[in-house]
Amino acid sequence: MLANYGIQCLARFDDGAERRLALPRKLHAVAGDWGETDGKRLVTIEPREHILARADADSTQILGANVDRVVLVQSASNPPYRAGLSDRYQVFCAVMDIPLILVINKIDEGDEAVLAKARRYEEWGVEVVCVSAHSTENIAVLAERLREGTSVLSGHSGVGKSSLLNTLLPGVEIEVGDVSDYHGKGRHTTTTARAYAYRDGYLIDTPGIRQFGFVGVDPSDVARAFPEFAEYADQCKFRNCMHTHEPQCAVRDAAESGKIRKSRYRSYLRIIESLEY
Ligand code: GDP
Ligand code: ZN
Repeated sequence: MLANYGIQCLARFDDGAERRLALPRKLHAVAGDWGETDGKRLVTIEPREHILARADADSTQILGANVDRVVLVQSASNPPYRAGLSDRYQVFCAVMDIPLILVINKIDEGDEAVLAKARRYEEWGVEVVCVSAHSTENIAVLAERLREGTSVLSGHSGVGKSSLLNTLLPGVEIEVGDVSDYHGKGRHTTTTARAYAYRDGYLIDTPGIRQFGFVGVDPSDVARAFPEFAEYADQCKFRNCMHTHEPQCAVRDAAESGKIRKSRYRSYLRIIESLEY
């Protein structure tokens, strides 16, 4: 299933043909779903393996199903890179056990400090690829990483996700927006996720996110995405320490003394807080 268009969906068949099928109201198909058809309609959806899902104040949305990796696209220039967003994706992916690739686009106009910040994530088990959709620098490296399996691309609008997909998918033309109105309302953007066959797998394009609210994440899961906390967490007084307010918390001490990056610890606290309200 490549895309859900309401009463219809776009399906890809085993022989590679793509065509629309009727979509019964009770089937909430999402890009990346596998299913069966009677030739006219989609009749079943197989249970999903890994999903990328997000929530905001109004709704929860599954952005892609049966995904083998999540690709968070951020920009090295405008809109500005946001470490907090990388951390949130890292948490989601750690909990769901999905590999994360952090793609930093617009390196043609980005500064080195941003790239250095992003590359830190390699220490924490995240693959980082710095590219430019405009100059095509490192696009071949990215293409190689996405060769197999299903990759779901997500990020704020304006980061250049459409431009990257147009570079990776010759022949497909996704509308590219103007970065100046990335937080405006007027722009027509992708509103529904769409999967494209790509080499030996699929790429799923998703609507630009404003907020990456969690689905299925419990506060006690969050530390898993912060592997640099682990050696200290063993020394906390309480075995189930959440590293927030507990006395004799070795993780907080390590952050205070600079053994753990303070910005990461603060990000951890913000994530815990966002889950508790
Ligand atoms: P999306 O909202 O993430 O799909 O972003 P778009 O692909 O629509 O791009 C938003 C803006 O960023 C457009 O003006 C693009 O021309 C620009 N852009 C995209 N990729 C690059 C890049 O690699 N370098 C630079 N300098 N600008 C880019
Ligand atoms: Zn602790």
